[in-house]
Amino acid sequence: MLGALGLLALPATRADAAGTAKKAQQPQQQQQPHAAVWPHASLVPGGVARLSLGPAAVRPTAFAGDVPLLVLGDTIEWTALVGIPLAATPGDASITVRAEGRPERQIVYTIAPKQYREQRLTVAPRTVDLSPEDQSRYERERDHQATVIATLTDMRPDTALQMRVPVPGRRSSSFGLRRVFNGQSRNPHSGMDIAAGTGTPVLAPLPGKVIDTGEYFFNGGTVWVDHGGGLLTMYCHLSRIDVKVGDVLKTGERLAAVGATGRVTGPHLHWSVMLNRAMVDPALFIAA
Ligand SMILES: [Zn+2]
Repeated sequence: MLGALGLLALPATRADAAGTAKKAQQPQQQQQPHAAVWPHASLVPGGVARLSLGPAAVRPTAFAGDVPLLVLGDTIEWTALVGIPLAATPGDASITVRAEGRPERQIVYTIAPKQYREQRLTVAPRTVDLSPEDQSRYERERDHQATVIATLTDMRPDTALQMRVPVPGRRSSSFGLRRVFNGQSRNPHSGMDIAAGTGTPVLAPLPGKVIDTGEYFFNGGTVWVDHGGGLLTMYCHLSRIDVKVGDVLKTGERLAAVGATGRVTGPHLHWSVMLNRAMVDPALFIAA
């Protein structure tokens, strides 16, 4: 019976057992996420879990630790989206769900291991071995960024979370790479780099509100956009910023221009997507 209870707690991502029974001789095919569903589920560090919360008359609340999660859907079927941090330990993880008139419950999901490759880069030495002045600047900026990251607004994103690519160009699959700058290990790469020339317009991938702009030591010219419910996006190394805090953007509206500011090897857009304070792979939000 424990096994059956365990199965009930699994997210509904497996092929229905009855549906696959008649194909028992064939290797079991893993059900792909529905093509029209964004973000795609990817149960690895840096991925997104989509956990079914079932029906409820009122939108349930869900938490990873004490961080509120984005809950989408309708009274027939609610889904919690969980951004899985790159630093997450593979294995079982859980969220807490509170629905009106029902006892609090946990939903368990399993994070699979993923080995991200290593990337070695050569950059200006002063951006790897920081002077005391740069070190204290970086620490101030890190503390400021922590407050930006904690932004949580009630504004709910549309249930259609497919994002438009913010600039055309070759999209690297560099999310999650373990980075070695000038021979020294640093934090993993927590976004997607898109090749584009300086001055290329950067367009909002979803409706949102600008919550931060600035010139930062590592990230250079930077814009943060809040899409609601703990879904944020960040654009870095910009040559020009065309928006200010408080501006409300429509999908496709210009917010900045590509550049090569901060710690870079050349002009490109660095694009990060953050969900419940975890940087997740932007590729999960865009059509291939
Ligand atoms: Zn980058």
